[in-house]
Order: sequence, then C-alpha cells, then structure tokens
Amino acid sequence: MQEVIKHVACPYCGSCCDDLEIAVEDGKIIEVKNACIIGIEIYHHASREGRVGSPRRRQSDGTYKDITYDEAIDFTAKMLIKAKKPLIFGFGSTNCEGMAAAGRVAEDAGAVLDNCASICHGSSFLAIFDTGYPSCTLGEVKNRADVVIYWGSNPAHAHPRHMSRYGVFPRGFFTGKGARGRKVIVVDPRYTDTARCADHFLQVQQGHDYELFDAFRMVMHGYGAELPDVVAGIPKEKILEVCDVIKAGRYVHIFFGMGLCHSDGRNHNVDIAINLVRDINEITKCTIMAMRGHYNIAGPGVVWAWQFGFPYCIDLSKGSHAHMNPGETSSVDLANRGEIDAFINIGTDAGAHFPIRAFEKIGSSMPVVTIDPSVNMAATVSDVHIPVAIVGVETGGICYRMDNVPIQYRAVVKPFNGILTDEELFDKIYERMQELKKAGVTSDGTWDYATPLADVRPVKEVYE
Ligand code: SF4
Repeated sequence: MQEVIKHVACPYCGSCCDDLEIAVEDGKIIEVKNACIIGIEIYHHASREGRVGSPRRRQSDGTYKDITYDEAIDFTAKMLIKAKKPLIFGFGSTNCEGMAAAGRVAEDAGAVLDNCASICHGSSFLAIFDTGYPSCTLGEVKNRADVVIYWGSNPAHAHPRHMSRYGVFPRGFFTGKGARGRKVIVVDPRYTDTARCADHFLQVQQGHDYELFDAFRMVMHGYGAELPDVVAGIPKEKILEVCDVIKAGRYVHIFFGMGLCHSDGRNHNVDIAINLVRDINEITKCTIMAMRGHYNIAGPGVVWAWQFGFPYCIDLSKGSHAHMNPGETSSVDLANRGEIDAFINIGTDAGAHFPIRAFEKIGSSMPVVTIDPSVNMAATVSDVHIPVAIVGVETGGICYRMDNVPIQYRAVVKPFNGILTDEELFDKIYERMQELKKAGVTSDGTWDYATPLADVRPVKEVYE
C-alpha cells in the first residue's frame, strides 16, 4: 500500500527544504514532491539497484571483497590506535548525532577532526572570528528583506529552491508583493542563471571583489564622488546607482558564496563584506549570511564548538587540550606536509574535492577508510569502505540549516540491507578501541595493514 510522508527535509544543500512529500510503497520510494531535481535524485538513489550493502575490503589484486561490520570496525579501530596523527575529515552529509559520536572517537584517538568547511566556508569563519557575524534567519529574509544581494553565489544551480523559498520570490509578512516588491542585486564575474533574476547585475572582475567592497564602503561613508571612473570593472555611475538602491531599502540582506571564499583575498573578502554590512546599518537595516553548501555543514560548527570549543580544524593530538589553527591544522595543509598517517573520509568525497596533490599523498602513503552510503572517488582508493544509512532518507536526526536553525530530519524508509547509521558505527568503533587498548594495543607504528594502495597501483592510475 502506498503511503505519503509529509514535511520531510531534504539531505542535499544548505537550504534544508523541509516541505517535501515522499510516496513510499513496499519500503521503496515511488515519488518525491516539492524537491528540486538534485533533491529528487537523492531519494531515488536510495532505492536504486547496486547499492553497497556491506563493508568492503581491498584485496591484494586491487579488487574489493565484502567483509563483516565487525571486521571493518576492527580495522578502523586498530588504524586509529596505531596511527600517531590520524585525520577524520568530512561530515557535510551526516547528522549531528553522528558528528558527536565521531568527536568522541577523535578525542580518544588523539586525531585531527575537520569538516568540509576547511575547503569551503572556512575563510568565512576566519572573517567572523575577526569581525563578528551580523546575521539573521532565512525567515527574516523572507518576511522583511526588500533588497537582496547575492554576491559570489549562484543559488539557481547550487541551492536551487533558495530564491523561491527565501531570497527572491516568496511573499512574506512585510513582503507581500514577493519578487515585485524586492530589488535583487547579483555580483559575479559570470552572467549566471541567478543574474537573470536580478534587477542589477554587477559583472565584477574575477578576484577584484575587495576593491568593489571598498568602493561601496566609500559611498556609504559619503565619499562616492571620489571614486575612480571604473572599479573592479564596474563603472562609477553603476556603483552609485546600486548604492542608492541599498540606501533606500528597508531591510537589506547579503548572501555570499564561494566567489568570495575561494578567490584572492578569501577571508578578507568576507571581512570587508561584514564591515560593509556594519556601514549600511548606519543608514538602514542590513544582515549577511554565508550560503553554506551541504545540508548539515553548519552542524559540525555547532556540535564541535560545544564539545571542543572550535568549529573545524581541531587538533586533538596533544591529548590535554584541543588546538585550532587553520593553515597549520587544516586537512589539505596537513596532507600536503605529510603530517598525518591515517585518514577517515566520512560523509564527503575528499577524493573528488581535495586538490589532487594532497589526495595523492593520502591515497598512496597511509591506510584510508571511507564511510559513505555510496561508492565515491575516495572509496575507490580506500582500504576499507563502510556503507552507512542515508540521513533524511533511512535515518533521522538533527541538521543545522545555513542560518544555523536546527531542522529535525526523519527517515522515510528502513536502512538498505540493515546497514548502520554513522552514529551507531562510530559508537561501535569507540567500543572496539576501548577493547583493543585494554588488550594492550598501542600506538607503536608497527601495524601491517596488508595491502597499501601503493603496492596495488598508484593513486594517479586509479583516477585515470
Ligand atoms: S534546494 Fe537544496 S534542500 Fe531544497 S530540495 Fe533542492 S537540493 Fe534539496
């Protein structure tokens, strides 16, 4: 019999749409309503043929063979104890319960605990540490904002329902005319699909956002007449026109994305954006928000700040205290400098998203475990791949939306083949570590994990 489950939250992007309706029949997902195309795919993926239903161990000929959860847990626990400085990275795509369980394991292992922020909005964190975060919730944007700026972000592709749920089109309490009552400004080097929805499009020169922010700040401080004729590729008249729109707004909101965090200046682009928000607040109301990527990438910042006092790049190897210093304790930097000796890829795909030089070092010189529902690029170079239940599809939990509002996720079907959740898996790894330590296993660097990838074939070849 078919059952329709309502108010389901989507486990893909930071918009965390929680108005999905999922039709389920005989334990299979039949139809997904209200989600964008990306969200729909997540649900159908769960019911697709060929899911990995059991942990897998790489063999000496490079193929993978199914093993039991006990064997996979034993491998991972031994790896964590034997390693001098293991790195546990990922967590964009799991629930807060899984993150907390992993935090306990990392502390016990003396590991470095890091999440996808260190290759994404980590630079925003640095700016926020320096400058503060005059932000709001997405509901406030929907209900109040009459000037919305998307700066270096392209929600039409990256957060497909963001503009219709929060930023541009919805009719809110004080924004009853919806898109007709809002002025939308897009700043991007490319004329994106988001820019098509804009009243004003500023085609900034790639990597020159800082100069443009500076120009905006000059105008807000009353020095607009002294601007040069062109700043960062934008004519002075256009800058003055857009600043007039901002000053006339009742409530201005800036959404920013990778255009600031991944281009020259990084955290300083965000610093100056936050300072511009403060300037605008001298004239009218203004707030700012990072367009967080994964549906729960805000989660580690909340959970680990509570556990350890830091949101990411957390070095627990000193035992007595946590230490955080991005650049020193960030995953890619640690990998590039060869400072780690074991790697867990969890709820992400470092194989696809790390710079290849960093991932080559990981894949060719240390034991690697991937914890993920699917076969991804990291899994293809891992010693052990452990499948887990998909959050929001096969298991519930708390996830933090891009504005740090917690959303209760729910399961719509049972876990495929009885696979474990991330939380259950990390709890079992923790228990096994205690047993092994009691039995005298220590970090003496003598562990032979049998089939290092380098003995099978180089990582480069795997990718080719
Ligand atoms: S916009 Fe994001 S959260 Fe909403 S349905 Fe699409 S992928 Fe899911």
